[in-house]
Amino acid sequence: MSDLSSYNLVVIGAGIGGYPAAIRAAQLGASVLIVDKGETGGTCLNRGCIPTKAFKATSDTLLRMHKLDEFGLSGEVNVKADIKTIVQRKNRIVSELVKGVEFLFKSHGVALKKASAAFLSKNRLQLTYSDGTHEIVESKRFIIGTGSSPADLPGIRADGKFILDSTDILNIDTLPKRLIIIGAGVIGTEFAFIFKSLGVDIVMLEIMSRALPTEDEDIASLIIRSLKKSGITLRTETRVTQAEIRGQEVNLYLDNGEVVTGDRVLLSVGRTINTDGLGLENTGVKLGKRKEIVVDKFLSTGVDGLYACGDAIGGKMLAHIAYREGITAASNLLEGKKLTINYDAIPSALYSTPEAASVGLTEKSAREKGLNIKIGRFPYRALGKARAFSQTEGEVKVIVESGTDKVLGMHIAGAHATDIIAQGAIAIQNGLTIQSIINTVAAHPTYSEAVMEASEDIFSRAIHQPKKSR
Ligand code: NAD
Repeated sequence: MSDLSSYNLVVIGAGIGGYPAAIRAAQLGASVLIVDKGETGGTCLNRGCIPTKAFKATSDTLLRMHKLDEFGLSGEVNVKADIKTIVQRKNRIVSELVKGVEFLFKSHGVALKKASAAFLSKNRLQLTYSDGTHEIVESKRFIIGTGSSPADLPGIRADGKFILDSTDILNIDTLPKRLIIIGAGVIGTEFAFIFKSLGVDIVMLEIMSRALPTEDEDIASLIIRSLKKSGITLRTETRVTQAEIRGQEVNLYLDNGEVVTGDRVLLSVGRTINTDGLGLENTGVKLGKRKEIVVDKFLSTGVDGLYACGDAIGGKMLAHIAYREGITAASNLLEGKKLTINYDAIPSALYSTPEAASVGLTEKSAREKGLNIKIGRFPYRALGKARAFSQTEGEVKVIVESGTDKVLGMHIAGAHATDIIAQGAIAIQNGLTIQSIINTVAAHPTYSEAVMEASEDIFSRAIHQPKKSR
């Protein structure tokens, strides 16, 4: 064992929860160590948000090329998806961003150690390096942001070759002819659109009665319609009981006795929380049913000086939630603040084709709460910019409370949905009424105008909509 080092704060996990926490703590003047056994940047940078967006950029470019004649471009275009180059481009983007975060650590004086961390007590952490050597570090403060990993199914485990998880599929070297996706949630849907555009036959098997079970119904229907229109087969209420690899194929056995055969399978049935092996039993930190770290609304575990953030604490597994929790935990821990997060105002973004994004209550959840609501809608096809760019599929749906006109929810399917949802997030975070959106001028021509027009539609006053019969 080497010398005992001491820090004001030790952050475990350099993902999208941990690394902003470490930087914020350093900005607040703390001496900070961040420890990670894997790549800096965690899932988001290396195996999630960013690499999938690199793939999506290829997919969008390709889809655009199929419409060349629509844009007045003629001639032969012979495009072929080269998965090796697509993966290399993704790796380059990821590596640049990882280096960027490591540069930020240096710039802010955050020490980074590549080791596996386990608590010996609530103030002592043992680091184990890949060569087997150990080190013990001490601190009065820790933030745990150890994230999550792809889940397997009972009896069906990813083998990295035929049965892939969301990490494996980002590193394949040949495109399968037929890909079966188990789980039509967020990850399954994003990969379905991407690989379909690259020429892969896709069958999705979903256990629930519809794909995207947690999205607003209208928006999910629009995306599901688009899935089917692009030639993806979606089978709901379908349970897979067993997988069998036969030669170069995989057979999936369904509970109705049917067999579905493909070349590769993607398992996208949720994620498990990474808290095993952390020595949390030596700290007094409590774990919940999913092995998530139990925290209060200030992100404290209740054990003095021990805070946690991101997927490790359960809840919605979104990168921007982890980010916000990381910096909030750092402020609460080091400045003695009592900051909380308004989870109702956090948007979600789905990189389907077209994109979808939501914030606040869905129509169903608002009605279930017994709220009296009004709804405004605006279709993309009525938007000048969407026409000019041939991106007319989609709509904005705005939900407000009758009487107060407070914005309760916004749900968008359509081009740039993931960007323009910020208008809804600002309104909900600040408790604004719909008039705040109506009165704020959206530049023309932009997709943001669709949000403004959907808001006007609540009062039947959208300019670019025909007169409504009352
Ligand atoms: P998910 O929970 O979104 O979807 C899993 C799907 O698998 C569900 O529809 C579920 O009903 C289905 N399922 C579960 N068991 C099944 C079975 N035996 N057979 C068939 N279907 C089954 O999980 P995910 O798509 O794996 O994503 C994991 C997490 O990562 C989610 O919390 C997600 O929000 C997050 N994520 C977010 C983004 C984004 O924000 N754009 C992108 C990727 C992942």
